Amino acid sequence: ETLLPNWLRRCAENRPDHLAVSCGSVRLSFAELDFQASRLARQLASIGVQEGSRVALLAANGLEFVACVHALTSLGAILVPLNIRLSREELRWQLSDIQAAFLLSDQRYAEVAAALHMALPGIQPGLLLSEAGEVRLQDAASLDVPLRTLIDLTATQAIIYTSGTTGQPKGVIITYGMQWWNALGSALNLGHRPDDCWLACMPLFHIGGLSILMRSVIYTISISLHERFDAVAVNRAIQEDNVSIISVVAVMLQRMLSALDASQNEQGYPATLRCVLLGGGPAPRPLLEDCARRGIPVVQTYGLTESCSQAVTLAPADALRKLGSAGRPLLPVQIRIMQDGRIAAANEAGVIYLKGPSITPGYANRPEATAKVMHEDWLSTGDMGYLDEDGYLYVLDRRTDLIISGGENVYPAEVESVLLAHPAVEEAGVCGREDSQWGQIPIAFVRPRHGCKLHVEELQVHAAQHLARYKQPRAIYLVEELPRNSSGKLLRRELPHLLKQLTL
Ligand code: AMP
Ligand code: MG
Repeated sequence: ETLLPNWLRRCAENRPDHLAVSCGSVRLSFAELDFQASRLARQLASIGVQEGSRVALLAANGLEFVACVHALTSLGAILVPLNIRLSREELRWQLSDIQAAFLLSDQRYAEVAAALHMALPGIQPGLLLSEAGEVRLQDAASLDVPLRTLIDLTATQAIIYTSGTTGQPKGVIITYGMQWWNALGSALNLGHRPDDCWLACMPLFHIGGLSILMRSVIYTISISLHERFDAVAVNRAIQEDNVSIISVVAVMLQRMLSALDASQNEQGYPATLRCVLLGGGPAPRPLLEDCARRGIPVVQTYGLTESCSQAVTLAPADALRKLGSAGRPLLPVQIRIMQDGRIAAANEAGVIYLKGPSITPGYANRPEATAKVMHEDWLSTGDMGYLDEDGYLYVLDRRTDLIISGGENVYPAEVESVLLAHPAVEEAGVCGREDSQWGQIPIAFVRPRHGCKLHVEELQVHAAQHLARYKQPRAIYLVEELPRNSSGKLLRRELPHLLKQLTL
């Protein structure tokens, strides 16, 4: 047991009038947020939420979500945030897999929650309402329970199902200690400024979004919360609301730049924007170069749900010198590349392993799955990469996305990066196709840039100029949309399905 004062309570004591969160037209100070969260906690207590309760939450980004996260902390209950994009069948599966006792939803997802409740009558429902900054539980009384003034770092804060770009979803255990060490590691790298404002446009039900909420109360800084990603709205917030840090995935950043160009805003972003934290997937080199040219302070990062978001991040000072690298491990994190059961040499590719207090102890109710990835406290990430001679990480691809063609390794991200460098290409996805001669061959799906004429032959020539023969896509298909999960991550395993649609 390691105890710290309740983070939000401390913010409310130390900086009561400072902006905690802005969302739409509503702005709550730390004192106001603490008040809302405490009242909600007592309402949740009245329906039986208590220490250790597993409370599923089906809600979009909004004040209900924020207040609920902090309310659960002050009750010692465990948050199970659900992905709002999942089908009812998938949600039902997760709810029974995690044996949730409660299912809370916001108004937008009330209907889905009601249907889930019909299928799983053992789960206690609850509807969160938010109006003009007031958050409450519908039809709930208030139970005057003592709220926790301390946080135990060893306790579980949340169980988050991984976005599932591969295999069956598993609930990753996230402790308060993981959040604490992650926030500390991030601040030691990016710096901590009392007037920072972190823009959250990623879903709060993924670790990338949830960890922003935690950093806000650990650092006592503001967040600008967006209900969903809208490039124009995000650009406006950066230009007008003193946003200093924003977390994005590559496709979001691409859309922000396109929107910036479309608005013909000559200035670009103001100097108040000090960090564009780019993670969640491979960062295409042309995007990084474009940002460098425009003077946008992109900071690359690598992490996963199991590492409570950032594990490896490029220091701002190295951004140009090590362009394309995800950087060096944050202070709490140790890193290793393993190849054939031994530690790989510098520049030698292998599987990325991580260890430290910001790494998960494992998956909920899944001792076998946990044993499979934990090797003497080292987490096998399933991602391929290498460390250069200075210890900077370069992420190659997921082991399962790797295409092996005629015995040669083809990393889809590398091929995608080349395709994206073509001016008429907006998005690209590469996967393998079975081939009797080579085992597998790379094929590509490309979404042309709006208003651009794109000829497949021309793109083939472009690929041939930049890639070894075996890496060149044998077929390129033009499509209108690529399959992505709710955090914008490309789902490579779903690319082959596009093929079926095309040949219909
Ligand atoms: P999740 O499974 O949703 O927790 O997402 C984590 C996964 O995203 C990692 O295991 C990687 O496959 C991928 N990822 C995250 N950051 C990067 C990065 N900088 N470069 C390449 N892949 C990344
Ligand atoms: Mg994962």
